[in-house]
Amino acid sequence: IKMTETYKPSWVPEKDDSKFACRVMYGVEGGHEGTPGVVVNKKDKVVPVVRRRILDVDDYVEGVLNGDRAILSRAITLVESNAAAHFEIAQQVIQKLLPYTGKSTRVGITGVPGAGKSTFIEALGTNLCRIGHKVAVLAVDPSSTVTKGSILGDKTRMEHLSREPNAFVRPSPSGGTLGGLTRKSRETLLLCEAAGYDTILVETVGVGQSETTVRSMVDFFLLVVLTGAGDELQGMKKGVMELADAIVVNKADGDNKQRALVTKTEYERILYFLRQATENWTTHAYTCSAYTGAGIMELWHDVIEVFMKQGWDNGVLAERRKQQTLSWVYSMVEEHLHNLFYRSPVIMGCKDNIEEEVVKGQLSATMAVRQLIEKFSNSQFVGEKQNTASVFEIK
Ligand code: GDP
Repeated sequence: IKMTETYKPSWVPEKDDSKFACRVMYGVEGGHEGTPGVVVNKKDKVVPVVRRRILDVDDYVEGVLNGDRAILSRAITLVESNAAAHFEIAQQVIQKLLPYTGKSTRVGITGVPGAGKSTFIEALGTNLCRIGHKVAVLAVDPSSTVTKGSILGDKTRMEHLSREPNAFVRPSPSGGTLGGLTRKSRETLLLCEAAGYDTILVETVGVGQSETTVRSMVDFFLLVVLTGAGDELQGMKKGVMELADAIVVNKADGDNKQRALVTKTEYERILYFLRQATENWTTHAYTCSAYTGAGIMELWHDVIEVFMKQGWDNGVLAERRKQQTLSWVYSMVEEHLHNLFYRSPVIMGCKDNIEEEVVKGQLSATMAVRQLIEKFSNSQFVGEKQNTASVFEIK
């Protein structure tokens, strides 16, 4: 194959003859819709792919509103991307979809690993689909930001539910900060609502701040616990119980049933002394079995649905959602300012010296603050170049 004037690769063999092991091939410029090709996947297998059409903002908006799952997935991928170009399109898509969001029941589900959260969600989600609901399951797993692996993101989970035509299961985005993860999950939730999912279940594992994060994006928060509360309650953070609108003792089946009922009573006793999570709502403990399904739909109809109806009627939910959105805005502002300050070249340049003076007792803490802030403010006036997209983790 001869090289043409218009195409010259950066490297070519000196003698491009039959003895040479590779042949230099022309590339296909651009490619077009539906062009078959191949990619090498993670297991080093060569698999055929169909090149995907590039979508514009309106394509995404229309696809999501039509409930097109493939386009919804791609819109979520866009939201999860850290590339500046994707970020811009994703924000335009969300802006256009905003009027179609907000109509779902948003439920957060937490509990220690092994409590049975995913089995519970699978049972609840499948039942809800069968009675005509469209259910989206999202996950918020900050462990993925630390280890780049994740506790919740295991693909084999919720196999049953994933096959339901009315269910959409999306694992936690990985990598990045909790702030970045929060934005991505919240925006994914909005996309799912615009796509017509009337029930959004957000699963989280009780790690670090994740419970508070999920509490701040849902209407109803459920804590899934195990029997044998005596020991568990000792270790359980009171704070987590105070976030819950219901506590459900799972695995109330077989020999465990009786113990689950005892555990439920123990939780009830403790709940009596705790602050309520939601105004005009008393948190109670219940039992269920994600295996047999016992108690699950009762929890849905008699607790979650009642909570939602009452909350919309008395204005508590409208107020909760308003506060959630506003506090999200300000937490992003705070994170942004924090990054702006600590990543500022001026601050990075003088921080060590100032710290040393403070530690040696040569400079008071208050004076140190004043110096840092003055240096930072001055640098802003002279237009120090900053990564203004830092809070969104956009590159
Ligand atoms: P997660 O880590 O909280 O999501 O917990 P999983 O849903 O993965 O469940 C942990 C283990 O408990 C699995 O082996 C499940 O099969 C089991 N399990 C979950 N729900 C029940 C239940 O209702 N009854 C019984 N007996 N086992 C359950």
